[in-house]
Amino acid sequence: MLFALLAWETSVLRTEEGGEPPAPAREATSGPVAIPRGAWNASPVRPSARPMGTPRRITVHHSGSRSSRYAVADVAREIRGIQHDHQDRAGWADIAYHFVIDRAGRLWEGRPLALQGAHAGNDASNRGNIGICLLGDFDVEGPTAEQRRTLRDLVSCLESLYGIPPAEVHSHRGIRVAHGLGSTICPGRHLLAMVEDLRCDGPESPSATGGEPVLGP
Ligand SMILES: [Zn+2]
Repeated sequence: MLFALLAWETSVLRTEEGGEPPAPAREATSGPVAIPRGAWNASPVRPSARPMGTPRRITVHHSGSRSSRYAVADVAREIRGIQHDHQDRAGWADIAYHFVIDRAGRLWEGRPLALQGAHAGNDASNRGNIGICLLGDFDVEGPTAEQRRTLRDLVSCLESLYGIPPAEVHSHRGIRVAHGLGSTICPGRHLLAMVEDLRCDGPESPSATGGEPVLGP
């Protein structure tokens, strides 16, 4: 498994260096390139999963875990642990989120995008809602520069792929408030500022530098 991952990472680095011919344009229906769920030894999705429909919004979370590490094998184990909690303790069909971003900025596939997530709070808030989870506790520390870059690129890619407007990029706290659900600390105050910045679709908004975050609706 580790071998396959290293090969994957090498191919990504080669592409980013620009030393090879550009890859063929992806079909409009394909999603961002992420490390496939097989790489973290995912259990199969359970039959209770519902179809996603057309994605029309995005919600950003943190894992709340301070122990998150950089090594590929450690990250794979951590994501597998999250799936275990969601399937075997919460009773959900799969890991709640569609994407996971680790401390090194790697993008990992979570629940398949064709399936509705279980991350926002209830069925209404999960409908058409892409869940992204950054590993770390961002109430006590900030996301790494690599995590921020990957999140920004991923959100931008999803926005253009599905025609999602920046106003439909939410924090977990924001989407819960918008749906009349109880508030949550997620995604932590340091990541919250960045999510509000993404909602404004500009890198230099006041919220990015610690201004008052604007919560939904
Ligand atoms: Zn959350």
